[in-house]
Amino acid sequence: MASKTLILQPLLFPIPRNPNLHKALTLTCSQKSYSMDAGLGGGGGGGRRNPRKKYGTSRRSKIKKSFSQEQIVFTTPIPSDPTVAVIGGGMSGLICASALEERGIRSTVFDTGMHGLGGRMGTRTVNDQPLVFDHAAQFFTVSDPRFQKFVDRWLEEGLVREWKGLLGELEAGGHFVPMPYSSARYIGVKGMRPLADSVLRKNHRVNVVRPCWISKLEPINGKWHLSENGKPQGQFDAIVVAHNGKCANRLLSSSGLPLLTRQMKSLELSAIWALLAAFKDPVPVPQTAFEGAFVKGIDSISWMANNTSKLFPSQNGMPQCWTFFSSAAYGKRNKVPQENIPNITAERVKSDMIAGVEIALGLSKGSLQPFYSRVQLWGAALPTNTPAIPCIFDPHGRAGICGDWLLGASVEAAVISGMSLANHMADYFQSGGEQPDEFSIGLHETFTALGGHDIGQFHGIESEIKVLEPQTTCS
Ligand SMILES: Cc1cc2nc3c(=O)[nH]c(=O)nc-3n(C[C@H](O)[C@H](O)[C@H](O)COP(=O)(O)OP(=O)(O)OC[C@H]3O[C@@H](n4cnc5c(N)ncnc54)[C@H](O)[C@@H]3O)c2cc1C
Repeated sequence: MASKTLILQPLLFPIPRNPNLHKALTLTCSQKSYSMDAGLGGGGGGGRRNPRKKYGTSRRSKIKKSFSQEQIVFTTPIPSDPTVAVIGGGMSGLICASALEERGIRSTVFDTGMHGLGGRMGTRTVNDQPLVFDHAAQFFTVSDPRFQKFVDRWLEEGLVREWKGLLGELEAGGHFVPMPYSSARYIGVKGMRPLADSVLRKNHRVNVVRPCWISKLEPINGKWHLSENGKPQGQFDAIVVAHNGKCANRLLSSSGLPLLTRQMKSLELSAIWALLAAFKDPVPVPQTAFEGAFVKGIDSISWMANNTSKLFPSQNGMPQCWTFFSSAAYGKRNKVPQENIPNITAERVKSDMIAGVEIALGLSKGSLQPFYSRVQLWGAALPTNTPAIPCIFDPHGRAGICGDWLLGASVEAAVISGMSLANHMADYFQSGGEQPDEFSIGLHETFTALGGHDIGQFHGIESEIKVLEPQTTCS
């Protein structure tokens, strides 16, 4: 069949501040070279002429130039049985695929995960001992009735339970202040990853491809063609980008989706180090034996949790597995490429973090000696700003974005975002694509800073402690 995809070539059109201008500009743009305003950190709009002259060849100029891409406009009719590629198998992508199926739409989820799906819903099991660690999401709270429905289903299936373990705030010297149990807290009974694995268990119209790193998106003949380092991975009528950070910026920067690219690049993310450590003897916590604590005022530690008492409350005599997270400030100062952490950095971070835990618990230096430990950097850990919109969809490019960052920094935000995008795209498909502009969403929203804890947002859990200057533990 002859191509019906209209690509505005070689035109580049400016991104209008007013979305209503979008249509007019699409129809009338002439051969002028424009660049998009990067809007870094702010998501502002506005076209700029002659970017090369203005920005020279600095790194910033390269980022600016990557915004100069042609908008793809699909004009092929939407097929009666459209297929969607979901790039990212974290909670938002999985929920999106599942909700698409509920609306009768087929999809394929691509995910890089070597050990499993779930992204930042990771649980690591070491050997057969077993040492079990939730190494990103620790627990979650619920504020949206749509998420509550999911959680109720997980409760019925025995996948989650309320976490009644003592939670509080900890300051140097072992000063622990319990937090009132004002809002239900949930954990995965066998850790967080099984929750992600469960999402698609009953789905028949979702194909999962893993591990697979989608490295290219190309609009050809009315379809999105996906590939992994030159290896074709299929053709789809629409795409969903369900991941963020450097990887998403790279993927989008030459995709023909300048509006999506700009929004993605406006996102700012924290970096957080995780230290997983197992101890033969119980870690001496203050007299009130807590299971989780937000740590205040210590630079290298912002959170600690005892996975063993959290996940195996009735079993005694097991080694204790703890998850420790650094503060975002420490993560930022000690950021390295997460795929290739130099040994010397790993050792220094481990010793800074152990020292931070000792200070927090009021223990003498060198008293904590884990028999197993592993550090990991979450280089794109949590969003620090948000457009506060459930999802983003570019109907001309037939491409959407979902993810926690669109609404906040939590499992709940990821679930609501995935579900919202699926329903939005299903409505768009159902409309036949006749009035695309009516389905444009989130392309022009500006970003605002996000509050919460360094490890995310928890409805109903507010800090009682006023944070003082952090105590530095770096050598
Ligand atoms: C240290 C830490 C602690 C946290 N603690 C909590 C907590 O206690 N409670 C809470 O509610 N939330 C917490 N969070 C946040 C929570 O984990 C996230 O909000 C949620 O899991 C995000 O889901 P997502 O689908 O938006 O993204 P992700 O989980 O990041 O999923 C994105 C997926 O896309 C994949 N991917 C990336 N690029 C590609 C590509 N090119 N091709 C294919 N696949 C790709 C990734 O591998 C990943 O699996 C924490 C996060 C971190 C980092």
